[in-house]
Amino acid sequence: MEEPKYIFVVGGVMSGIGKGVASSSIGRILKSKGFKVTAIKIDPYINVDAGTMNPTEHGEVFVLDDGYECDQDMGNYERFLDESLPSINYMTTGRVYLSVIERERNLEYKGKNVEVVPDIPLEVLRRIDEARCAAGAEITIVEIGGTIGEYQNIIFLEAARMLRQKHPRDVAVVMVSYVPIPRNIGEMKTKPTQYAARTLNSVGLQADIILARAEVPLDQKRKEKIAVFCNTLSEHVISAPDVDSIYDVPLNFEKDGMGNMLCDVLSLPRRSSDLSAWEKFVAKSKNGGKQANIAVVGKYFDSGEFVLSDSYISVLEALRHAAYSQDLKISITYFDSKAFESGKTPLEELKKYSGVLVPGGFGETGIEGKLKAIEYVRENKIPYLGLCYGMQLAVIEYARNVAGLAGANTTEVDKDTPHPVIAIMESQKENVEKSRLGGTMRLGAYPCSLADGTVVAQAYDKKEIRERHRHRYEVNPKYIEQLESAGLNFSGRSPDGVLMEIAELPKEKHPFFLGTQFHPEFLSRPLSPHPLFVAFLKAAGERA
Ligand code: GLN
Repeated sequence: MEEPKYIFVVGGVMSGIGKGVASSSIGRILKSKGFKVTAIKIDPYINVDAGTMNPTEHGEVFVLDDGYECDQDMGNYERFLDESLPSINYMTTGRVYLSVIERERNLEYKGKNVEVVPDIPLEVLRRIDEARCAAGAEITIVEIGGTIGEYQNIIFLEAARMLRQKHPRDVAVVMVSYVPIPRNIGEMKTKPTQYAARTLNSVGLQADIILARAEVPLDQKRKEKIAVFCNTLSEHVISAPDVDSIYDVPLNFEKDGMGNMLCDVLSLPRRSSDLSAWEKFVAKSKNGGKQANIAVVGKYFDSGEFVLSDSYISVLEALRHAAYSQDLKISITYFDSKAFESGKTPLEELKKYSGVLVPGGFGETGIEGKLKAIEYVRENKIPYLGLCYGMQLAVIEYARNVAGLAGANTTEVDKDTPHPVIAIMESQKENVEKSRLGGTMRLGAYPCSLADGTVVAQAYDKKEIRERHRHRYEVNPKYIEQLESAGLNFSGRSPDGVLMEIAELPKEKHPFFLGTQFHPEFLSRPLSPHPLFVAFLKAAGERA
């Protein structure tokens, strides 16, 4: 076997230009060439994982099978590679330092002076190696978060430098940069990219390939300019213009010969790629078909004056995957639930939609607005999918308005509610009391048994499923009988029957009204859309 190969993906000029999608796309291309690939994300934060960060700060918190709470890019890797990844593939500054400090406390450095350099980069390399071995990867893609030139990620760049110094033929560096076209100048400017390349040089690294992100494709003149001033081959400057769909990106890169270019840099023999399944999926996504309009009622949207959709990225992607599979063209509209509370947005707005989705969330902000929206869609028979909090709120709404449990609530919002239909899990009480809040929720994949003859059993066509969780509260077992006799069906439960994982209304009562305690969106993949999103969109398509 060849030596293991590594590709470091770094960002120049600014963040938010699609390093994650670029890394994922490189992964897809190399996988389509038959290489065994894995992808690692490094985030420069002190946070040990992403679980304690507000989605408006950092975007969605993605959850892996093993329960690790991480950056949304891990979701992109899983979707593009069509593989589930373990927690060792994600690290932050906090995680790395914590391991080194714990090891030092255990005298594992055997009395040695433990130093930021080289011990921190060595720990980074140790983790990269562990992830590579766990995946049996021939090529390991490592995305370094943040931008070149900032203070925070310098130690990770040092790790890349150390690895390249030791294995010059086995490490490639891809810089994803931005080439702006300032409106008052009207010309594409390469200088910021030149500075980024030099700053990268100053930490001992040279970009082998430069992905130039821009609004429009790069012309030959700009390619050559970037090549000369950034010290690379002009064929290795790849134009990465804005695209309608992120799923176009691997196809565009491969059109420019990205895969073989990487093989050349990594001293690997060139191979042909088979992206036909991906091409089919992308073609289908553009076919159009019937229009379905989906409303997402959430609360993590505001960033100053801007609206963020990053907070719910997996939900949006899962909707897209399912829509394409059903030949639907979808448009997604965000509703801030607080606007339903204040009456700023009338509930009747929801009538225009083919389906309404309430995603996960925490705390009391916007809750009454979500409850109003759920009541409205239940009564008006608009297809509804509730994810985690969206399921808990559907249970609360049903308890209040159908089962006659006035004032029903979750103890997360109202500790003194007369009817705590959603209550903290027994195993979680101590965590909350002692404020042990990082990484302590019910996290990761758990099995769930489906009841025969239900909407979910039909959607999955299975009796037993595994889905990823992230919550502290659950349906209170004391109210199950009362809720079920009022007509709400708990069609999915933990195999021991204790935890209610799915609530649904039978088909005779509602075209589609379903909530899951888990997050199905984390397992939806472009090439295998999630059965519950498919069922939801089928119902939405019928209403459209
Ligand atoms: N806040 C709820 C809980 O902790 C739901 C969490 C979520 O939607 N992910 O149980």
